[in-house]
Amino acid sequence: MIRYTLICDRDHHFESWFQSSAAFDALAGSGHLACAVCGSTEVSRAMMAPAVPAKGNKADLKTPQSDAETALAKLRTDIEANSVDVGGKFAQEARKMHEGDAPERAIYGTASLDDAKKLIDDGVPVAPLPFIPKRKTN
Ligand SMILES: [Zn+2]
Repeated sequence: MIRYTLICDRDHHFESWFQSSAAFDALAGSGHLACAVCGSTEVSRAMMAPAVPAKGNKADLKTPQSDAETALAKLRTDIEANSVDVGGKFAQEARKMHEGDAPERAIYGTASLDDAKKLIDDGVPVAPLPFIPKRKTN
């Protein structure tokens, strides 16, 4: 991952992470890159890439800072993109899938330690996630 400081045609500076410089070129070339401030697609790379996050730049707080955090962030994105969040019903849903009462799919959610132990005792494949899934606010 590389971080570029980008600048739009209205002189807004913002930062974004890209897989590679080729990924940046492809995005910019296809017009899918837009200014974070005004939405302009006339975006190009600024010459300077500051290593210290600007004060008050909240986007930077979510930016992975190490390989481990990058890997974890990717894992989290993959799981949240490819799995169904069943929230507090995780134990019931996992058991239903195991017993054929619900369609097989990737799910994640929360379960008490007791529930998780019972699932494992019954041979239901469950694994703890190395992060707390984002909860949709109700
Ligand atoms: Zn702009």
